[in-house]
Amino acid sequence: MSTATARMRALLGVPGSTLRGLPQLCECHGCGLVQRSRDLQPGQIMHCERCDTKLGVRRSNPPIATPLAFCLTSAVLYLLSITQPVLTISIYGRSRTITLFTGPIELLRDGWGIVGGLIALVTIVLPAVVILLMLGILFGALHHRLPLRVTAMMRWYDRLRPWSMIEVYMLGVLVAYTKLIDLADIQVGVAVYALAGLMLTLGVTDSTLDTDVIWSRRRVRLAHRHPVHRPFGPEIDIHEVPPPPEHMVSCLSCGLVCCSPTRLSCEECVGACPRCGARLYRRKPDSVRRTMALIFSAVVLYLPANVLPVMTIIKLNRGGDHTILQGVGELYDAGMLPLALLVFFASVTVPVLKVLGLCVMCFATWRGSANRLVLRSKLFRIIDFVGRWSMIDVFMISILVAVVHFDALANVNADAGMMSFAAVVILTIFAADCFDPRVMWDAAGLNGPAFGETRSPARAARAERAQA
Ligand SMILES: [Zn+2]
Ligand SMILES: [Zn+2]
Repeated sequence: MSTATARMRALLGVPGSTLRGLPQLCECHGCGLVQRSRDLQPGQIMHCERCDTKLGVRRSNPPIATPLAFCLTSAVLYLLSITQPVLTISIYGRSRTITLFTGPIELLRDGWGIVGGLIALVTIVLPAVVILLMLGILFGALHHRLPLRVTAMMRWYDRLRPWSMIEVYMLGVLVAYTKLIDLADIQVGVAVYALAGLMLTLGVTDSTLDTDVIWSRRRVRLAHRHPVHRPFGPEIDIHEVPPPPEHMVSCLSCGLVCCSPTRLSCEECVGACPRCGARLYRRKPDSVRRTMALIFSAVVLYLPANVLPVMTIIKLNRGGDHTILQGVGELYDAGMLPLALLVFFASVTVPVLKVLGLCVMCFATWRGSANRLVLRSKLFRIIDFVGRWSMIDVFMISILVAVVHFDALANVNADAGMMSFAAVVILTIFAADCFDPRVMWDAAGLNGPAFGETRSPARAARAERAQA
């Protein structure tokens, strides 16, 4: 073991590992089925045989050069987007220009510093962090053997990428623009074009990056013989008979399946991944309870988010409060039906869909239900994907607050509803992140007896009654 790895293990506080990699296997993180990895040809995709989750993809482009070119372009576009103006507004002979920083600063001045900080984090800080991490990963991957620091960067990139919300911010700019066009003369700045370009280049960087190729440059200690003693016997070739499920764990970060000579605990940390150093858990700890706690908090805040005004619009000393639904109604009245539908879907439907969907999944897990598991897994993937798009309204308000600042002539201020709404969005994103969809399949008894009974209290009680 290298000194760096030993130091990292000590830092993580996990025991020196007996885990060995099994690169010939992969576990579906949607349903928990362990299956044989396939050697994919360029352009081929591997899906889970049970729930259809995408398990792997081999890109047909050069694995490092193409994403590197797009990532360098992203860095240039990012610099343009933070230094150039986003919008210039002219109203009754007065004009005002805003940049990406103006919205968070104005929110801070108005006493909504937490929301301002959140917007600055997801539109300014994290996009920069994500671009720097990707550059670090791609330059590191040019080495024949992947350096250890790059594995940590890959882990952080995975975690932080969904929080870089440039594409959602772009939609917020579009909605703000359509709201302002009747009020004043608007000029779109260079930063909007840079942000549109950045949205595309970040997307293309992700879709041309072949993480399997990068991970294959990191050597791991492999298991050849079955390390499991009685009753499986020490001499079984691992290529013929895979180890029993309770001796295997897969890394949520790099996907490596590892096996151990001993039975592994279900929810406790079982060691560090031999390939990327991430803490390994067979299932996300306390997934159902944590998800329900976050969902409950989101439900409590959902009512004020919709009843309280999210902003106050004053024009020539007249005007008043606006709730989210009133904003949708205004877009509809202005003849912007597609945009009204988009905002209604993102701000009203998505949070409700997330809360109901996650409640159904948690309840079905508690009961140990095996009904519509494939559908539930697909629903979870959708919920996980659409959550961040609810931030459109929050971004739109931050832009309006920044740009419409003309005292009695025209003024927009944020209101308490926006704070509650931003909290609902963040809580539901965390709730989806805490939920482990594999526990639905465990509770239905489809991942072997080692999982089922502990996962579904209702099922365990039924089994106990039947025995009695
Ligand atoms: Zn699956
Ligand atoms: Zn790993």
